[in-house]
Amino acid sequence: MKKYLLPQNGKFYRANLHAHTNMSDGEASPELVKEVYKGMGYSIVAYTDHDILLDRSQLSDKEFLALNGYEMEINGKGTPDWSNMETCHICLIALEPDNLKQVCWHRSDYLYAHAVEYRDQIQFYEDEPDYIREYTGECISDMMKRGREHGFFVTYNHPTCSLENYTHYINYHHMHAMEMYNGAEEYNPRVYDDMLRAGKRIYCIGGDDNHNRPLPDGGCGGSWTMIKAEKLDYRTITQALLDGHFYATQGPEIRELWIEGDELHVVTSDVEKIQFIPSNRRAKRFCAEEGKCLNSAVYKMYPDSEYVRITLVDHRGRTASSNAYFRDELF
Ligand SMILES: [Zn+2]
Ligand SMILES: [Zn+2]
Repeated sequence: MKKYLLPQNGKFYRANLHAHTNMSDGEASPELVKEVYKGMGYSIVAYTDHDILLDRSQLSDKEFLALNGYEMEINGKGTPDWSNMETCHICLIALEPDNLKQVCWHRSDYLYAHAVEYRDQIQFYEDEPDYIREYTGECISDMMKRGREHGFFVTYNHPTCSLENYTHYINYHHMHAMEMYNGAEEYNPRVYDDMLRAGKRIYCIGGDDNHNRPLPDGGCGGSWTMIKAEKLDYRTITQALLDGHFYATQGPEIRELWIEGDELHVVTSDVEKIQFIPSNRRAKRFCAEEGKCLNSAVYKMYPDSEYVRITLVDHRGRTASSNAYFRDELF
């Protein structure tokens, strides 16, 4: 019997899960960000301005869903010049549309750029003390845990741009997902494999981290997340995030994905390669013949593989990445 790993029913919605506006350090207004992304065929944008969580529900319509979120940064060693500083950035996306209280809030620090103008609008847990950020695995994991416990989908962002390596990210716990892609620039397959092989059960997403430089669409459309759900409704979409009903991509499409017996089947858009990457050395790669393309592949799951994930590569070198599927979810 077929077991669908991306739901059989419903529709794929194109989502940017990491976006900035001129309410922090981006160039475009929230309305223009919506216009640009709708124009590119997106249905969902998570607004994740630096350190400010504001209600964006007025932007949602029948064909567009604005998710409420914010991004926090925890800065480490390096020169004060941002370009040389180790840092960790995490996005929190509210699972409920009315969850507008920020966790890890500090009453007088961390806000910068235009975000400072909105300080008075921030809601937070008033009986909690100011949260001091430290660039340690312990503190960052605590922030991720608080985000998760207070009803947010927590993502670990752009490890490459942040100058982070294994010794940093392997100590970060409680994230739901990491950025496999950040815009058109960053692709982090090795980081994802490191995380999975260290026992973390996390998903992978793609997001632009757009700042709309230059206006109107600079930095938009580099990578995204395709979410499969029954309808474009706030809670339906955030539940699909929690359930892992999505894949990340720079262009290629995973159209269907199921397991039948011990065989994993994938149906794709036109691609040159389909790679199955398991926990161990049982990887398998299917390549199209010269001048042709592939649209499907079947992989026999080995009994000693803990999980497997799939990568597609198209003729332009763009890739797509599935989440990792673990043995106990597959069988
Ligand atoms: Zn960031
Ligand atoms: Zn960002």
